Amino acid sequence: MRTPFVAGNWKMNKTIAEARELVSTMAPQLNALTGVERVLCPPFVALNEVSSLLKGTGLGLGAQNMHWEEKGAFTGEVSPAMVKELCGYVILGHSERRAYFGETDETVNRKLLAAQKFDLTPIVCVGETLEQYGSNRTREVVSSQTLLGLKGISPEFAPRIVVAYEPVWAIGTGKASSGANAQSVQGGVIRPALAELFGADAAQAIRILYGGSVTASNAAEFFSQPDIDGALVGGASLKVDEFVGIVTQAKSEKGV
Ligand code: PEP
Repeated sequence: MRTPFVAGNWKMNKTIAEARELVSTMAPQLNALTGVERVLCPPFVALNEVSSLLKGTGLGLGAQNMHWEEKGAFTGEVSPAMVKELCGYVILGHSERRAYFGETDETVNRKLLAAQKFDLTPIVCVGETLEQYGSNRTREVVSSQTLLGLKGISPEFAPRIVVAYEPVWAIGTGKASSGANAQSVQGGVIRPALAELFGADAAQAIRILYGGSVTASNAAEFFSQPDIDGALVGGASLKVDEFVGIVTQAKSEKGV
């Protein structure tokens, strides 16, 4: 059985002081919800502080991005070794990174290979734009992002990867996909692509999350689907009741 997984992507929100305040309220409530892998992904500058606050809890810490090189002349970038000092997880290829910072399947793949090398659990984001969705290209786009992004990963590391299906039209819009639509992509496109890369058994072990306007009130619709193993949550991860509510739904729908 795949352990349910819920991660909060804070994006570019919360100063260190604000992060401290949020985590000190949220962490004790989240910590009680065992059985679900729970991960917070604050901005880089708050990682150290949040790492200290999470010590002794069952909660994980993730970065929102990283470079693929170990070190060197890459002004403004953060290396896998730096992320590894503080975090167990890293989000890779978020659609905002693809749209605003020129990330491609090739750079996502380099970063994923670096995550493998540095033993970080990657959360790899895939998903079609509104235009691609409107022209019925979802299957082709998501399949190709998965196949190219995860190319060259070893079958041993593959089960550590977490894939997040995030239709771009659903992110931050309040217009979530339906559970049935996300299930059809996650079970009908992503898992078969994973099987093509790593074989059927490894594909069955990989967690596939849904992301895009998940809230405490619509979460059950997603978690009741067989190929939706959890959620990558943006906006709602900044609100204690919402995020705790989403993890609570994961726990009850998945029976953990
Ligand atoms: C995200 O940023 O990964 C995301 C899914 O955002 P939101 O939940 O706000 O749609």
